[in-house]
Amino acid sequence: MKKLVVGNWKMHGSRAFNAELIQGLLAADLVTTAPGAAVAVCPPFVFLADVAASLQGSALAVGSQDVSVHAQGAYTGEVSGHMLRELGVTYAIVGHSERRSYHRESDQLVADKAKAALAHGLIPIVCVGETLAEREDHQTEAVVARQLQSVIDTLGESITRIVVAYEPVWAIGTGKTASPEQAQAVHALLRAQLKAALPAAASVPLLYGGSVKPDNAAQLFSQTDIDGGLIGGAALKASDFAAIARAA
Ligand code: PEP
Repeated sequence: MKKLVVGNWKMHGSRAFNAELIQGLLAADLVTTAPGAAVAVCPPFVFLADVAASLQGSALAVGSQDVSVHAQGAYTGEVSGHMLRELGVTYAIVGHSERRSYHRESDQLVADKAKAALAHGLIPIVCVGETLAEREDHQTEAVVARQLQSVIDTLGESITRIVVAYEPVWAIGTGKTASPEQAQAVHALLRAQLKAALPAAASVPLLYGGSVKPDNAAQLFSQTDIDGGLIGGAALKASDFAAIARAA
């Protein structure tokens, strides 16, 4: 199975910046140079239409960084899965730690967003991960299990149609990557939890995210239960992102 490499641009970019980044990614010819990777980029909502149009016909897919739980209606500022599908979006990141912490998104809201994404034909990339305090308090296992369980309980058999990203909060944007062994240990737990919920869910792709760079990607991706990466900072530089895709 191909590894999945997804770039989360967060709230970065401009039309000019994006055009240059995309030009760099297309020039990298990932179909030929990174045959082991399926690749997607997740720009801010306002750029999705532009980016999807620029990538049409290429092997790169487009994802959003969030999605509303609602289908439509009086929900100022929200964007529905239906709208995203109309733009050609394939993936929707839900439950990124920045949304869980800055926007107080609960486990249940994240699970509901995953459900809404699926209902509109999007593949949710559900992020889970512990803070540094939780890791130091030996709560990693309990925290990620709790976060994943609410998605399992909410989705039922549809759990086979999601992607999960393990992103230790202490490794996001900090330059501190989880060691391949630390990441693998959590991925193995997530895999076991999914399998216990539904045997077919054992094949749910599990991405690692948190300061993945060209020089650590290959080692992370070589772990048994790491099926790819969710990339933040390094996704903003075409040469770095392409190198990570090639490492897959
Ligand atoms: C992220 O935002 O999902 C992320 C993993 O960021 P970074 O790669 O910059 O740590």
